[in-house]
Amino acid sequence: MTFDPVCDSDSGGTFISCDSCSNYFTACLARSFEFIGFRREMAHSCSTIQHPMPARLTTLQKNLRKSIVSNLNSILTEAWRLGTGPWRNFRMQKMRSESKVPTFILFYHRIADTNPNPWSMTYSQFEKQVRWLQQNFDIVSLEETQRRIQSGSNTRPTISITFDDGYAENSERALPLLLTENIPVTYFVTTQNIRQQKPFPHDVKDGAALPVDTVESIRAMANAGIEIGAHTRTHPNLGPINDPHVIYDEVISATRDLEDIIGKKVNYFAFPFGQHSNLSVDAFQLLLQHGFKGVCSAYGGWNDIGGDSFHLQRIHGDPNFTRMRNWLTYDPRIGTAERYDYSKTSQSIDWSTWQQENNLDVADQPENKSNILQTESTKG
Ligand SMILES: [Zn+2]
Repeated sequence: MTFDPVCDSDSGGTFISCDSCSNYFTACLARSFEFIGFRREMAHSCSTIQHPMPARLTTLQKNLRKSIVSNLNSILTEAWRLGTGPWRNFRMQKMRSESKVPTFILFYHRIADTNPNPWSMTYSQFEKQVRWLQQNFDIVSLEETQRRIQSGSNTRPTISITFDDGYAENSERALPLLLTENIPVTYFVTTQNIRQQKPFPHDVKDGAALPVDTVESIRAMANAGIEIGAHTRTHPNLGPINDPHVIYDEVISATRDLEDIIGKKVNYFAFPFGQHSNLSVDAFQLLLQHGFKGVCSAYGGWNDIGGDSFHLQRIHGDPNFTRMRNWLTYDPRIGTAERYDYSKTSQSIDWSTWQQENNLDVADQPENKSNILQTESTKG
């Protein structure tokens, strides 16, 4: 998560704990509480942010402050939800009457009771959220979400569930719960970590080399009816990458490898990190050209009925139930999230020409694709 470290209001500064690194930094009080602002950066991109930590703060002080801020956040979030209730109800009635009830898509990472971190939640937290979702939403597949968006008409609260990365502990209780309850789920996998059994660098950095899924477990999920999606080969930030070889390998070759593992077509792709700055017009255009059904971001926002059904905006499956419930009760700010523009106007790579030059069929030639990076790397 990130907060603007520059205080531009009269509310004064305060020390705020970062969920990712537990350090403290100075931030504007008005911008610090998440009930006011979006979580504009996901936790695992936190390392890009500077966090000056005052040396005088002891661990006890840090924990105390963290607890106070957390409780205050929950109280303010609930007050915000209740205070805006009449406006939300009015908006909801209007959306229903117009058959334009937007769809939500949640993304989770890891459900486990040990080694807690900002991209994890406990099983009991997860089960509580699932039960609440069952009571309040149609929980549908990404395909059904897209169908409702495309149909131009939806009167029912609709939500889809996805997971990113590929953490082994998800198979212990979370995925079995969803399968038992017949809840559709799309599971996005980073192939290199799975194939090489390599923990994610951000977990290693945190001192906990958390176990990742295996090729066998991914295959078993696919056979059990879980939709497997692509999440690149090495989990890079695709935003600043403009080398077509790298983009192609991370997006298309990695997807073909995943299809080889599960023996099925992969239809969906999720950008790592998923904020605006982590998305790429060139990657979007490549995904379109290769016939993917949908592409997921992770910067928040619901999906308007009658709007774009290819780019699916997702919301963080927040371990804080109060905050999660606030977002999913049609917080008006969710609807104003600025959609990423992936139109061709800012495309820099001519994929048709590039693929022809590299002897790649636009439709499919996996045996050639997996050799692209090797060929490049031998060039030095
Ligand atoms: Zn990821």
